[in-house]
Amino acid sequence: MNDVEDKLLELTEEIKRCTACHLSRGRTNVVPGIYGPKNGICFIGEAPGFFEDKQGLPFVGRSGKLLDNMLKEIGLTRRSVSILNVVKCRPTTSDGKNRTPTEHELKFCGERWLFKQLELIKPKLIVTLGGIALKFFFPKLSVTKTVGKVLKTKEGYKIFVTYHPAFILRNYNLLETYEKHFKEINEIIRAKTNRIATKGIEEKKSEKTQKSLMDFLI
Ligand code: SF4
Repeated sequence: MNDVEDKLLELTEEIKRCTACHLSRGRTNVVPGIYGPKNGICFIGEAPGFFEDKQGLPFVGRSGKLLDNMLKEIGLTRRSVSILNVVKCRPTTSDGKNRTPTEHELKFCGERWLFKQLELIKPKLIVTLGGIALKFFFPKLSVTKTVGKVLKTKEGYKIFVTYHPAFILRNYNLLETYEKHFKEINEIIRAKTNRIATKGIEEKKSEKTQKSLMDFLI
């Protein structure tokens, strides 16, 4: 285990013990999220729902299945990406149904934990799933106006805006657009990885040139 993995593990344990806001009282499990490799893609939703709360895992149930299928389409799995929510405990209505987190809940939990997770994961690209996750980073923007776009946060994170899988399940006519978004996400990541690889080769080349220069001088 490396240093980042150790720190993520420690942070996850801290999140699991968190009772800093009223949402801790109604939860079955905290849902800290799952981590893929450092510098990869990080998908971010709003908050756990009924099934996530029961299992302590993000994006399970029908939405999770759709997300898994979309990942599969571009050659990825849950193990190759990070999947987080802004809010880590399930917000419920007075009669126990899922509800959207309030702006305050979003800001309170997100600033307390999500930024710490992102600082360690250092994602190349964040994909916000749905309008609420987008609002955490850009309170004044809506998905309708920014969907399919790449934005940059003031902290320097690159964000691809797309829909929440639950929204696609209710609006099946958008499935094709959703598939297109995932292809674009894949292209962005590949282009970035290639640039880094090329940079690595260039650096190695220049190291080699330096070395042969040194050999020559000696
Ligand atoms: S929602 Fe966030 S801040 Fe509130 S108790 Fe859960 S982990 Fe802590």
